[in-house]
Parts: sequence; structure tokens; C-alpha cells
Amino acid sequence: MYYKKLEHIYRSQDIKSLFPKITIEKIDLFIRKTDAFSTFISPYKFAMENGITINESVKLFMYLTYEDDGLFDTIFYFECSRSSCHSSRIYFSNIDEDVLHCDECGKRYSLQTIRPYIKVLFKLKDDIDIPNEILTKKKSDPNSTYQALEGLPDHLKPESPSSLTEFSQAHDEGDDSEGVDIDLVFKENINKKGNPISPLVERFKKKVMEIQTSHVK
Ligand SMILES: [Zn+2]
Repeated sequence: MYYKKLEHIYRSQDIKSLFPKITIEKIDLFIRKTDAFSTFISPYKFAMENGITINESVKLFMYLTYEDDGLFDTIFYFECSRSSCHSSRIYFSNIDEDVLHCDECGKRYSLQTIRPYIKVLFKLKDDIDIPNEILTKKKSDPNSTYQALEGLPDHLKPESPSSLTEFSQAHDEGDDSEGVDIDLVFKENINKKGNPISPLVERFKKKVMEIQTSHVK
């Protein structure tokens, strides 16, 4: 099921033409390697290891998430603002929640208040098991994964203030459980025809936008 889904997404969404350097084997190996020791799969790490920008990586992750039969679930969270709860993450159990509360101190938050602080994590869907056999044997040395860190490819080098910010974020956030800003996810959830990739993320975006609009009025 894992390969079937991966192949289906890769071919039906024409990932090859969108990301010429990203082969299905690279995606497979990254998921496989990350899933072995981490709950969350980081688009920051994927970007660094494969020499693409954070934006491109997030877009690719949206494709891997894109519908119910995708590979990833998206998980939304923010952090409690009380300093005594500093490391306390508050996860959305679903996107229909309008009020969330901190399990540790009980503080209640409205969606409107936390909207700028929401972050997104990617996780392999619970019902997906990665088979032991690898689809295609990796040609290069398995120890060479971190080669990308030794010398950055030219296009990863900052070209503009925005890509500089994106890159330094990626550089600081080596942790797999570091979420992506919700706005970046909203921005990249669009295919080349201008349509949303993940319906769930689109639904959440609409909901959040409505709250913002009503707040301004
Ligand atoms: Zn708290």
C-alpha cells in the first residue's frame, strides 16, 4: 500500500516535472530513514538533504498529503504562552476546533488569538506500514546522505531576503518535530493549475481567513 500510494502520487501529480531532481527513490529513502527514528517527517530536513528550497519541499509534502489516500497526515499545533508551560504544545485534535486549551495550565485560547502561531507537522498515516524491501536499490553509498550539508548547491544559497529567512529557519530547525509556519503551508498548498492540493488544508485556510475577516470588521 505504501509504494502503491507513493507511486500513484508521484505519477498522477507529475512530481517528476515539478521537481526534476527528486526521484521516487529519494522520497522513499527519506521517509523510510526518518520514520525509523522519528514520529514526524521534516520538510526542512528533506530540503537540506535534497538541495531544494523550503518552499519547494513544503509543496512536495503537500502532494504527499494531498488527499485521503495520501501518505502523510498534517498535524496543527501552537504553544501555550505561559512561561511555566514553555514546552507545552497544544495540538488540534481536528480543524473544526474553535477553542483550545492547554492541558498543563488550563488556559483557553480562541482560534483567532492563536492563528499567527499555528504550525504544521507531517506524519506518516497510522495505517501505513513501510515494507522492508526497498523499491529500487540505492546506487550511491548509504552513508552519503549528509553530503548535502558539506557544500550547499548554488540554488540553495540565499538569493533574496525571503529565501535567506527561509534558509536560516531551516538551518536552525534541525529537529524533526519543528513545525512549519501555517502561512507557508497555505501558500504552497497550490498546484500549478492554481488549485488547492490538500483539501483539508484548504478547508482550514478558509476557516482561518473567515475568522480574520470577521475580526477586522
Ligand atoms: Zn499552559
